[in-house]
Amino acid sequence: MRHRYNGSSKNMSNLQNPPILNSISPLGFWDDAIGILSRELSPQQFKTWIQPLSLLSVEESDDSLTIGAPNRFKLDWIKKTFADRFQELASVYFGRPINVSFTLAVEPNTPSVATVASLSLAPALPQGPAIEVIESTISVEESSFEIEDHSKLNPNLTFETFVTGKANQLARAASIQVAHNPGTSYNPMFLYGGVGLGKTHLIHAIGNHLLKEKPNARIRYIHAEQYVSDVVRAYQQKAFDRFKRYYHSLDLLLIDDIQFFSGKSRTQEEFFYAFEALLSNKSQVIITSDTYPKEMAGIDDRLISRFDSGLTVAIEPPELEMRVAILMKKAISEGIPMSEDVAFFVAKHLRSNVRELEGALRKILAFVRFHGREVTIEVARTALKDLLSIQNRQISVENIQKAVADFYSIKVADMYSKKRPANIARPRQIAMFMAKELTQKSLPEIGELFGGRDHTTVLHAVRKIAEERSRDGQLNHEIHVIEQTLKA
Ligand code: ADP
Ligand code: MG
Repeated sequence: MRHRYNGSSKNMSNLQNPPILNSISPLGFWDDAIGILSRELSPQQFKTWIQPLSLLSVEESDDSLTIGAPNRFKLDWIKKTFADRFQELASVYFGRPINVSFTLAVEPNTPSVATVASLSLAPALPQGPAIEVIESTISVEESSFEIEDHSKLNPNLTFETFVTGKANQLARAASIQVAHNPGTSYNPMFLYGGVGLGKTHLIHAIGNHLLKEKPNARIRYIHAEQYVSDVVRAYQQKAFDRFKRYYHSLDLLLIDDIQFFSGKSRTQEEFFYAFEALLSNKSQVIITSDTYPKEMAGIDDRLISRFDSGLTVAIEPPELEMRVAILMKKAISEGIPMSEDVAFFVAKHLRSNVRELEGALRKILAFVRFHGREVTIEVARTALKDLLSIQNRQISVENIQKAVADFYSIKVADMYSKKRPANIARPRQIAMFMAKELTQKSLPEIGELFGGRDHTTVLHAVRKIAEERSRDGQLNHEIHVIEQTLKA
C-alpha cells in the first residue's frame, strides 16, 4: 500500500488514518528526524536545507520512503550531503533498513522574499556551494537589526547545564566573571577552540545570566555569518544608519564564529566601528573563534590587535571524565539514565567533542526507545556501530604519523627512521603521544610502528609531551590543530 502526502508537513497532520509501519507512524518519523537534524545542524543550515523538505510517500511493500525537495539545486545538494543521514535516521526509527529516495516535490513553496542575487557585494558563503549565494533568500520581515529587543538567546544554554572539567574550567570561570561584571573586567573576551567544545553554549550562558539579572539590558547574540548578511542587507537597503544605531547601542554583543569574517572587508570595517563604539560605551563584547586572534587568516590587523587586547581564553577538548559526566547528565535530562560503565565505554571511543557525544547519545536513546531495551554496553555498541567504525578507520597510527609529519614539514619516513636531530625527534615524540591518546594501541605496538622502538621510548615520549603540553600553550594548540585535521 502506498501512502501519499501532498507536500507540506502541515497537510500531513490532517491525515484521517495515519499509516502504520510496524506500529510506528511515518509522521512520527518525520517529526523525529526533523527534530534531530535541527539539533545537529546550525540554524542557518537547517533553515536552508532541511526545512524546505517534505515527506512525500511511504511504501510499505518495499520498506522505502520518498522525501521531496523544492528545487533541483537543493535536491542535488541534499542527495549528496544528507542522504546517508536520512537513511540512518529512518532505519533507526523503523528498526530495519529503509530505502530513502529523494525527488522534486511537485509544488515547490516559494516564500515571498527579496534575494541578494544581483548584489555585487554578496559574500561567498563559507558553508555550502557558491551558488547558494544566488539562492540565498532573506525575508524583509526578518531583517534582524530591526527587531530591537530580540536577543536571540537560547534559554537552554546556561551555566547550570554546562558540565565543567579541566578542559573548560578556565573558559567557564572567565565567562562567569564577565557575566557578573560586563564591560568592566575583560573587554573584549575572546573565546576560542575547536568545533563542538561548548563555545556557543558558554556565550549564550553569559547572555542568559545577564538577562536574568538585568531584564532591560540590550543583549544580542549573533552568528558571524548572520552579521555578514546584516551588513549586506544594510548595504542593499541603504540602511547603514539604522544598522549602526542598533549595533552601537547594545549593552552586550555576543558574536559567534568570527572566523567567518575572513576576507569580508566591508563587514570587518563595520564591525570595527561597532566594536570601538561599544567599548567606549563600556558595553561588553564577546567573540568566539576556532583559533586564537594572531592565527586568524583574512582578518584585518587592526581587528586582530583589538581582539587580542582583552582576555583570550581557550576551550579544550573534554577529557575522559568530563565526557563521562556529560553523557550521564544529558542521559538523565533525556529521562533514560545511563550507567557509568556504559558512559565510560562511549566516552572512551568518542573523543573529539561534545557535539559528537550528544549525537552518540541520541543514537543510543533512539535505539533503546524503539527496541524497548535497557542501556547496556552491548546496546551502545550496536547503536553506534557506524560511528565507532568510522572512528577506528580515521584515527590510525599511520594517519597520525602522516598528519604530524605534514604539520611539521618533515618526511613521514622520519617517523620510523633512527635519525635524532631535534627537528625530527620532537615531532616523532608528539606523534607517539597522539598515537597513545587517540588509538587503542599498546605502548609496544606503537613502538613497533615507529620503526621498532622500545616501549620505554614510547612511554618516555608520552610522558614528556603530556607534561609539556600542560604548561606550553603553543604546543597544546599545535596538537589541537593536528587533531582537528585528523578528525576532519
Ligand atoms: P561550539 O560552539 O564550540 O562548536 P557548542 O557550544 O555548540 O560548541 O556545543 C556543542 C553541543 O555540546 C551543544 O549542544 C552544547 O550544549 C553541548 N556542550 C558543549 N560543551 C558542554 C558542556 N561542557 N556541558 C554540557 N553540554 C555541552
Ligand atoms: Mg558554535
